[in-house]
Amino acid sequence: MKVRRIEKVLVYDEGAVETLDIGEIAGYLREKLKKVQVKVRGNPFAFRLEKSPDYARKLASIKIRDASRKIAPEPEPLYGEVQYEKRRILGKTKAFGVVYDGFQLQRVFSELVAREERCLGFVHIFFTNRLFATWEESDKRYHARTSVYGVPSVISTTGLVEAPAKPREYYLVKQQYEMLGKDLLELKERLKASFIDYEDERLTEVVKGYAMQALFYYLVGDPFCKDKGCRLYNAHWQEELIFAQLGSGYELCGQHARILDSLHGK
Ligand SMILES: [Zn+2]
Repeated sequence: MKVRRIEKVLVYDEGAVETLDIGEIAGYLREKLKKVQVKVRGNPFAFRLEKSPDYARKLASIKIRDASRKIAPEPEPLYGEVQYEKRRILGKTKAFGVVYDGFQLQRVFSELVAREERCLGFVHIFFTNRLFATWEESDKRYHARTSVYGVPSVISTTGLVEAPAKPREYYLVKQQYEMLGKDLLELKERLKASFIDYEDERLTEVVKGYAMQALFYYLVGDPFCKDKGCRLYNAHWQEELIFAQLGSGYELCGQHARILDSLHGK
């Protein structure tokens, strides 16, 4: 298998939640990659504030309004929506309740990568709390996603909570709770072990695995693994996600561990 060489990894904080310790994730990548430089860049919009009206317009134009209709970027987004995006870029508001087209969002973010750093050997990873979805031809609708990989790779902390399905029991009991008017917090507390929630203290550990997926996408062209205990497992259920990232007792399967070792000339 052909394995590409990584020279530098750049991680960006595009408004990820506060519980996400990006410094710790960068440290983890450094430990795994040994000689490779890993840099934390902070808010990627901060270097291009003069262009923020333009980015705000682009972001406002790629929102999904109807999950069953594939969007084309809106040429004339509403004034209020552009203003909202301007505030969001400056970190003055949180992006809740908005869903973006994942590949269009990746395209906007790619413009934030400095031209001289858009080269071979550089891996760019954006952490965001924006929720995004990608269009699936098979059932002709959008599906929420945890991540999209490419230049840059984008990992959504909101997506990690919302995209993989919670255990079936959660949905059943939730219905009962709602009917009885009981507090959903109690239910969340009860099933805490089986899904990741907002402000979850396990989030940083989980995201390390998604950062590894971004690295493997660059290294071998495929971010995923079939082994359910490998951090590269493409989890569709929260319980699978928790097992792959926290519960399996190992980080990478034999094959992926060997690829990583091969980088250090072992
Ligand atoms: Zn694997």
